[in-house]
Amino acid sequence: MTTTSPAAFLPVLEQIAEEISRTPGRGRPADYIPALAACDPRSFGMALAEPDGTVYGVGEWRQPFSAQSVTKVFTLALDLAREGDELWEHVGREPSGNPFNSLVQLEYENGIPRNPFINAGALVVTDRLQTRTGDAAGELLAFLRAESGNPGLDFDREVAASETAHGARNAALAHFMTSYGNIDNDVPVLLDQYFRQCSIAASCADLALASGFLARHGIRADGSRLLSRSQAKQVNAVMLTCGTYDAAGDFAYRVGLPGKSGVGGGIIAVVPGRCTLCVWSPGLDERGNSVAGVAALDRFTTLTGLSVF
Ligand code: GLN
Repeated sequence: MTTTSPAAFLPVLEQIAEEISRTPGRGRPADYIPALAACDPRSFGMALAEPDGTVYGVGEWRQPFSAQSVTKVFTLALDLAREGDELWEHVGREPSGNPFNSLVQLEYENGIPRNPFINAGALVVTDRLQTRTGDAAGELLAFLRAESGNPGLDFDREVAASETAHGARNAALAHFMTSYGNIDNDVPVLLDQYFRQCSIAASCADLALASGFLARHGIRADGSRLLSRSQAKQVNAVMLTCGTYDAAGDFAYRVGLPGKSGVGGGIIAVVPGRCTLCVWSPGLDERGNSVAGVAALDRFTTLTGLSVF
């Protein structure tokens, strides 16, 4: 994880960190998971990883935070790699236009969630990965450790317990989809896997590196292939259209990159073929996306001209 080639974008990241430090109004940390509510909304970190594994950053870019829904990208990739297109018979790939924890579409769409990045869709993906591996969260953790080169990555048991204690909404989603035959595993088993998945603590450096396969068109850090070139493109497309929930249109408009946010305040973003980014600041807007995180990525693509458009 040392910087081996010139950190070309470091001055840009430094400028962004300086601008963000002068910006008031950072939103509020998620409070429906009590263990996250204590985070300082003024924390900020941003990292950039090159496809060769070079990584650098600014602010608290090595500080672990709760990855939460950012992990949904990795479980999607791990499941797609195993089962391929059959997955899409169980979860859609359309933006939902609804909040991340919404139940409303499930009834009139036969228990098939709109996309893999809202909670309902992520529960389906984790369920399918669990059926195939017997330990979805463990599979995910091993993948993140390998790709980040950080064997110290782990679940945060306090966060997982906090989510379990306040997990009525996710339990309702899982039970409801079970009634349509779209969940294989027992709900308590699935929820345990899902909450551990969300609880993984990782830094901007870890998550920027772990996303590298999406910039390398499906190739993992060790040179092996996880996804076909086409599948990597598909995951990036779903991130662009669905990765920031009911704000995905605004995120595409402002940032112009595939991205995935989590209620821990992290956001990963991909410049296909060029680099990956991870930004963290725990203050959220009303849709559950990091206020300073979106602002920082907006500035990054504006200052560098990098975008998929
Ligand atoms: N663990 C959170 C939940 O299921 C993840 C939500 C998120 O990051 N948007 O509610």
